[in-house]
Amino acid sequence: MRALCWHGKEDIRYDNVDDPKLENKDDVIVKVTATAICGSDLHLYNGVAPAMQAGDVLGHEFMGEIVEIGPDVKNLKIGDRVVVPFTISCGHCFFCQKDLFSLCDESNPNAEQAAKEMGHSPAGLFGYTHMLGGFAGGQAEYVRVPYGNVGPLKIESDLTDEQVLFLSDIYPTGYMGADNADIEEGDTVAVWGCGPVGQFTIRSAWMMGAGRVIAIDCIPERLKMAKEQGKAEVLNFEEVDVYEQLMDMTKGRGPDRCIDAVGAEAHGAGTWSDVKEKVELKTGTASDRPHVIQEAIKCCRKGGNISIPGVYFDELKIPMGPMMNKALTVRGGQTHMQHYMKPLLDKIEEGDIDPSYIITHRASLKDGPDMYKTFRDKADECIKVVMTP
Ligand code: NAD
Ligand code: ZN
Repeated sequence: MRALCWHGKEDIRYDNVDDPKLENKDDVIVKVTATAICGSDLHLYNGVAPAMQAGDVLGHEFMGEIVEIGPDVKNLKIGDRVVVPFTISCGHCFFCQKDLFSLCDESNPNAEQAAKEMGHSPAGLFGYTHMLGGFAGGQAEYVRVPYGNVGPLKIESDLTDEQVLFLSDIYPTGYMGADNADIEEGDTVAVWGCGPVGQFTIRSAWMMGAGRVIAIDCIPERLKMAKEQGKAEVLNFEEVDVYEQLMDMTKGRGPDRCIDAVGAEAHGAGTWSDVKEKVELKTGTASDRPHVIQEAIKCCRKGGNISIPGVYFDELKIPMGPMMNKALTVRGGQTHMQHYMKPLLDKIEEGDIDPSYIITHRASLKDGPDMYKTFRDKADECIKVVMTP
């Protein structure tokens, strides 16, 4: 089959690879009908994430049709149309039982490697480094999906692929980003990053009762989308001082809830340290950048919440003193997908949201290498790419 494979920093190829096979009795094989490129894939593209190997099949946002099925899969049949969550979860371990699906104790075959780095291993993920299992991803014609009884969400209505595809990751991720911030009725919520995750965080913050949503980015078309579709007030961090502006807008108190929908590859507003970091990133001597998390801690009101859907990899310089003395609550995590998918599908079916509004680019899988570059460079006003094999 054909698939998009990682071959090194900024080197993605449309390769011929072996077809996937059923390996466990509860596996299914999905024929992919739609797949997207995520901001998380850009960390792989940019060579920021560790433990990738040449030839790895990329992609963790995908959906399609069941074409093969293991004998222990009870709730699916051949021909079913499914969206697959990016987190691989067993459904029965201590963590899955608590609905903490991205912390599954069973699904990462390379758990030891992850535990060495982090103390414990989170769940395995599709197409996302050998530290998280080395599972072949869904930017491919076919994918093996483990734990068929737990992951795939059946789509039984006539919603289009584009309307439901983002249930595989970014819509639940934006939603959990807002959920983790413990938003109370009338709160002012600040969202750093107006990429796809930020857009859904903004929409979700309103669903949870925010009184005001302020979105921060530097890309005009993303700020425009946050303003027009997200009904957020927007700040361009290259034009204003974010701290001063947020204090002005909240009479000095600061936003009640601050959400980092940027993660490891945050950039500053063209300062000297930003230039230095760019050089370090190019030469491979630095990975994560702390701009957003530092700024969010500085801006958040005392006793407020910081939620971190943005992905980080390494240790960072975090302002512990301010965080402790301001009594902030900080929460993060890969999304507990299976906890959110069904209720969020209901919201799509009820017409509360049509997530397809963020799509700017449609392409075929073979255009993937160019699409990675376009999305990474935010060229051609690209906000989200959907590909069909
Ligand atoms: P994206 O790269 O399209 O968007 C990131 C946005 O952040 C860009 O628009 C960029 O201009 C903006 N940005 C950069 N520096 C900034 C700064 N200093 N202040 C404000 N904005 C800044 O990516 P995306 O698809 O929206 O994903 C966002 C983050 O969410 C990524 O880190 C991704 O890995 C992560 N993610 C996490 C999960 C999860 O389960 N937790 C799932 C999906 C994605
Ligand atoms: Zn993703």
